[in-house]
Amino acid sequence: YAGHQYGGFTMLGDGRAILLGEHRTPSGGLVDIQFKGSGRTRFSRGGDGLAALGPMLREYIISEAMAALGIPTTGSLAVVTTGEKVYRESPRRGAILTRVAASHIRVGTFEYAARRDEATLRALADYAIDRHDPELVEAPEKYLAFLKAVADRQASLVARWQLVGFIHGVMNTDNVAISGETIDYGPCAFMNAYDPGTVYSSIDRGGRYAYGNQPRIVQWNLARFAETLLPLIDPEPEAAVAAATEVLEGFPAVFERYWLAGMREKLGLQSEEAGDADLARSLLDWMQKVRADFTNTFRDLSAGPPVGERYRDAEFQAWYARWQERVGPTGPSYELMRSVNPAVIPRNHRVEEALSAAEDRDDLSVMHRLLDALASPYETRAEHAEYRDPPADEAGYRTFCGT
Ligand code: AMP
Ligand code: MG
Repeated sequence: YAGHQYGGFTMLGDGRAILLGEHRTPSGGLVDIQFKGSGRTRFSRGGDGLAALGPMLREYIISEAMAALGIPTTGSLAVVTTGEKVYRESPRRGAILTRVAASHIRVGTFEYAARRDEATLRALADYAIDRHDPELVEAPEKYLAFLKAVADRQASLVARWQLVGFIHGVMNTDNVAISGETIDYGPCAFMNAYDPGTVYSSIDRGGRYAYGNQPRIVQWNLARFAETLLPLIDPEPEAAVAAATEVLEGFPAVFERYWLAGMREKLGLQSEEAGDADLARSLLDWMQKVRADFTNTFRDLSAGPPVGERYRDAEFQAWYARWQERVGPTGPSYELMRSVNPAVIPRNHRVEEALSAAEDRDDLSVMHRLLDALASPYETRAEHAEYRDPPADEAGYRTFCGT
């Protein structure tokens, strides 16, 4: 594959991942099985093709958490240490992640094929449609319909990310799966205090992949995808551009629809009213102003009238009154709220704690306790209480892609 990395085009190919093949699951689904970190490939360029234990366990933990939250994601079957050292800033233990995915076809795969020739591109598109959108095989204008289907999945996915405060961290086009699964967990992290400008990745200095930019970046990535499909959409370039542009320009509205539907659930609203988006946004504005924890605020609201110093704030009280008026005497659906507002997310400091116990002390118990809590994110269990606290101080916290 190829890809736009931080806006610039690069030829890539997988430098440290090997597709073992496809597997038919007992329920009839088809998945790819891949090793990540298994050594040099013909695309490794200057890299060693290896992976360190910490970053592979990080992918394992976060992808498990995402799956439990109900968000489409590639899966992690296993992380196995190789017994060899991997040399980064310091020598680290090498490991291989076994990844399972609906497929590993990325926007970047199309960027590569489109730069070869049209026959290759068409073969890839037909294969991807067959695999991910079989109902479109006979559709009129099937490549345009495919673009719409991919855009729709991405809109839904990024809305799900926004709704739980997930920051992917490295949304290059080679890390965007056509299937609509979250893929490639590198410097990703969950936001604590609500702030659209939140960035954790050490290499994202300009904040290109900040939390609040994610929907726009998905649209940008889809524009790169649309460009590859132009010759298939219509042999007449102008007609192809016009049709693709219409899909791309419709993206913000599609995203907003998914996001608002999710926000209504987060606020326990079981009907649609015109002021709902504004109601949600004014809560977020207040959260940003007082640096309220994104996850815990929604969880607090899910449990009845929220208690605590922060909620005595006049601006919050005004918002709360507005929300109460919106839901009327029956109140919000707390049950619905508790089913979408997680109590437990993989807090960065908890993930780091689990990784350092595993990497530095060969102690997996910290990670297993964390994984246990992450497996039922929508339940409030006493034994998981410690995982609900945000870090005392996360100033300067940075994530690394670990390559
Ligand atoms: P990523 O930022 O993880 O999506 O990686 C971007 C590209 O760099 C992918 O094609 C990777 O396969 C490649 N890459 C990452 N780490 C290594 C490594 N240690 N050796 C060779 N290639 C790598
Ligand atoms: Mg990648």
